[in-house]
Amino acid sequence: MNSGLLITHARLITWEESNRILDGCAIAIMGDRIEAVGPQAELAERYPSLEKYDAGNQIVMPGNLCAHTHFYGAFGRGMAIPGPAPATFLQILQKLWWPLDLALDEEAVFLSAQVCLIDAIRHGTTTLIDHHASPNALSGSLDTIAAAVDTAGLRAVLCYEVTDRNGNAGAMQGIQENLRFIERTKRERVAGGRVAATFGLHASLTLSEKTLQVCKEAAPDGIGFHVHVAESLADQTASLIKTGERVVVRLHRHGLLGPDSIFVHAVHVDDHEIALLANSNTWVTHQPRSNMNNAVGIGDVEAMLRAGVHVCLGNDGFSNAMWEEWKSAYLVHKAWQHDPRRMPATEVARMAIYHNAALVNRFFPDTSLGVLKAGASADLIFVDYHPYTPMVPENLPWHIVFGFHESLITSTMVAGKFLMKNHQLLTMDEDAITARARQVAPQIWERYRSFVP
Ligand SMILES: [Zn+2]
Repeated sequence: MNSGLLITHARLITWEESNRILDGCAIAIMGDRIEAVGPQAELAERYPSLEKYDAGNQIVMPGNLCAHTHFYGAFGRGMAIPGPAPATFLQILQKLWWPLDLALDEEAVFLSAQVCLIDAIRHGTTTLIDHHASPNALSGSLDTIAAAVDTAGLRAVLCYEVTDRNGNAGAMQGIQENLRFIERTKRERVAGGRVAATFGLHASLTLSEKTLQVCKEAAPDGIGFHVHVAESLADQTASLIKTGERVVVRLHRHGLLGPDSIFVHAVHVDDHEIALLANSNTWVTHQPRSNMNNAVGIGDVEAMLRAGVHVCLGNDGFSNAMWEEWKSAYLVHKAWQHDPRRMPATEVARMAIYHNAALVNRFFPDTSLGVLKAGASADLIFVDYHPYTPMVPENLPWHIVFGFHESLITSTMVAGKFLMKNHQLLTMDEDAITARARQVAPQIWERYRSFVP
């Protein structure tokens, strides 16, 4: 933690509820918080002892937030799937993700997290909600990831995905891992309070009635569930066959909806399920790149937003470059609906900025994330963007969709500490980490192939 910094010569985007773009203003940072935002000359006079940092007329704005990701999928990059290409979502799970998570050992879990965290720092994503699976390196895996997050200097919300696909013992171990880590975050400030916990569930289609019941009974009060929901039609079909109920109805019967629960995707939900999600204040996250890649369809996000569902934006393990997710969301709904009026950039901003901030702030109640104002956490990114047309709060979301790019991010700060300054990573040895990952990747891929059915 530094003693203090005065960021000068910046153009500020505050992302307050009524967003402002401020010229000629400075940011005073003390410890991990923003102490003040105001006219540069005034702050320079008020805080003469603060070290000055000249932003060189870059944009300074809150770091991006990711509502759903999977660090554990990192070693899937460039990996060949043996045999014919998966033809359905279920085959993608069976031939890619399930054998890959079985192949992870403790070091692979650590490296997966590290390479994703480097990616996040480089691409200006400062808080991530992760959903982890490593059935053969399960106990303590959330500590392993937390250690990586601690060193990286970022913020994360962690959980382990409980599933019945590795037998009852596997499911019970997953439950214990969630409970153990939740207790740890209650007992101590993990990574200085930058790591929080939730309760992970894979998806309705791999969870029995018994396991769902045990999870609900075991979860402490105030802890929600982070679960994939109706990502593909197969999840609905499996639920209807198993219980005669649709997925959200089933999870509702088990008491799993609520203001601390994150329901991922919700691609195939009907009006009744949308009403249940809205009435229970359950969070839904949208991952358009993943939905397109898996060919599972596109959820009617605009209908959910209209119904009052708090839809957030995640990346589902794609690159931690959230503006790429913005662009995908902006484009795919237009293509899907054959209507250029669908998903205006303001709606994307509503999800990615305001809903994501409200979601992560539930997990970090002592801080204020996703906003640049006095008292908020100093989680900031520096963007070397100099628009050739006027940029005002009203058109900013369109500047982001058409003009912003993560390669323009030069510096990333979390809790008042630079994690990257002028493209130089300060907390992680990227060369050493990527070299080690390349070294172990062939062994992970070999183990993966041995698990492919
Ligand atoms: Zn996911």
